[in-house]
Amino acid sequence: MITRFAPSPTGPLHLGHAYSAIFAHDMARKAGGQFLLRIEDIDQSRARPHWEEQIYDDLRWLGLTWDGPILRQSDRLNIYREALETLWESDLLFACTCTRRDIEAAASAPQEGVQYGPDGLIYPGTCRERGSRRPGTPLPDSALRLNMTRAARDIRFEEICALHKGTHHISRADLIDKVGDVVLARREMGTSYHLAVVLDDAAQGITHVTRGADLFDATQIHVLLQALLELPTPTYCHHDLIRDENGKRLAKRDDARAIAKYREDGATPDDIRRMVGLPASS
Ligand code: GLU
Repeated sequence: MITRFAPSPTGPLHLGHAYSAIFAHDMARKAGGQFLLRIEDIDQSRARPHWEEQIYDDLRWLGLTWDGPILRQSDRLNIYREALETLWESDLLFACTCTRRDIEAAASAPQEGVQYGPDGLIYPGTCRERGSRRPGTPLPDSALRLNMTRAARDIRFEEICALHKGTHHISRADLIDKVGDVVLARREMGTSYHLAVVLDDAAQGITHVTRGADLFDATQIHVLLQALLELPTPTYCHHDLIRDENGKRLAKRDDARAIAKYREDGATPDDIRRMVGLPASS
C-alpha cells in the first residue's frame, strides 16, 4: 500500500489537513506500506517557500514520517506538457480563449441553461465548436480543454471509505452532460490540478488516494484521464471533512485553526489527533 498527502503551500495547515495527513499516514503504516509527500505548488502566484517549510515542520511535529523523496509539482512542468502533447496529438484537446465572463454569458443564454459540474460551470462549448480548424499548436495565451464528447468513455472506480463506499460506474453520457470540457491546462500554469494529480499519483505509484470528500466529484475526471493516458487507477478513499462548530468546512484563511496556533498554545500532537477524532499515536 502506498498513500500520500498532497498539500498546497499556499497557507498554514489547519486541522482538516492534519486529519488528512494523519489518516493517510496511519493507513499506510498499519498495512506496512509507504506514506509519501507531494507539494502541490503549480499555482506559483500563491505558493510560498515559507508555507512549504511550515508544512514539513508541522508534519514532523505531528510525529509523521514520510518515505522516499518529496515530489514537487513545480519540478514536473515538462511531464505535464508531454502529457498535454499526447492528448493534443490524439485530438482530445482544444484551445480555449473564453474568459469566465464569456462562459457565464454563454451558459446563461436562454437556450443553454446554467449547469454546474465538478469544476464549476459546465463549459458551453463555444471554442470547441469554433475550433474545427485545429491549429498546429495551442495558442500561448489559451487554456486547453478536454473535448469531452471525443474523450468520454464508461469508467469505474472503487471507493473504500464509508461516505461513498462501493464501486462507482460513470457512463460516457454522464461525463459529457455533467462534467463537460474541463480545463487541463490553465493559461498561466501550463497544467491544471486534474492533470497534475493524475500524473503525480501514477509517478509516485500511489495505490490508495486518501483525501477530503470535497474532491469526490472530481475523481471521475481523474479516472477518465488515467484511462486516456494508460495509467493505473488507484483505490480511492474520500474521508469526512473537518468542520468548525457551525458546520462550515475549514479553509486556509481560518488562521485561528492553524496547527501552528495550537502548537503555540501548548497543544500536543495527541491533542490534535483527539480534536479530529483519530486514535492517539501508538
Ligand atoms: N492539493 C490538494 C489540497 O491541498 C489535495 C489534492 C489531492 O489530495 O488530490 O486540497
